[in-house]
Amino acid sequence: MYQQIRDNVLRLRTEIPSGVSILAAVKGRTVGEIAAAADAGITILGGNYIQETEAARSLLPSRGEWHFIGHLQLNKVKKAVELFDLIQTVDSAALAESINRHAGGFNKVIPLLIEVNIGREPQKNGVLPENVIALARLISGLPNLRLSGLMTMGPNIPQPELRTFFAATRAIYEDLKALCLPGADIRFLSMGMSDSYRVAIGEGANMVRLGTAIFGPRP
Ligand SMILES: *Cc1c(COP(=O)(O)O)cnc(C)c1O
Repeated sequence: MYQQIRDNVLRLRTEIPSGVSILAAVKGRTVGEIAAAADAGITILGGNYIQETEAARSLLPSRGEWHFIGHLQLNKVKKAVELFDLIQTVDSAALAESINRHAGGFNKVIPLLIEVNIGREPQKNGVLPENVIALARLISGLPNLRLSGLMTMGPNIPQPELRTFFAATRAIYEDLKALCLPGADIRFLSMGMSDSYRVAIGEGANMVRLGTAIFGPRP
């Protein structure tokens, strides 16, 4: 059963250009499945939930880095700062300030990405495109944060139209890079999932977040 996971990772690593990082989205997977992906060469693991990641991390010590990719509630920030190496889903000043405060308490500088609601969907998290730069400036002024790029989910629409949303996210990413904000190190454009990673890479993603493509359908 783990052989399939191994085969998937090796095939994806062959198919996906070497400059594009593969994050394994582990929600709902067993520790054995996560270990199989790590054994096959996955070095970035993405967790949506605090408790799930806490359990996996304690059973899989020293297995790559963990990114938070879920929706972060303010009352979970302290735990997230303790547990994760990078937070991909920052979408408000209040959240950024809270992460900064807790990171300071742990004497850490936390790398993070701003999540962009590029499809302007009311039910989705993320900041609207026109608000990204203002949030980036605010983060740049907080000493225990290191802004490292952008993340987007993209709307659930067919591929031809999806492409324009990924391209729009890429454009904001380039603007952000060009700003050279102090304390920022803009290097990750995290977009594309199992059904959209090819399109996302075509539009400049350098990190894709894959669940189903690695582990198979979610149970
Ligand atoms: C689950 C999840 C993914 C991966 O989804 P798949 O369609 O299974 O590849 C990527 N990003 C986020 C934020 C997720 O929650």
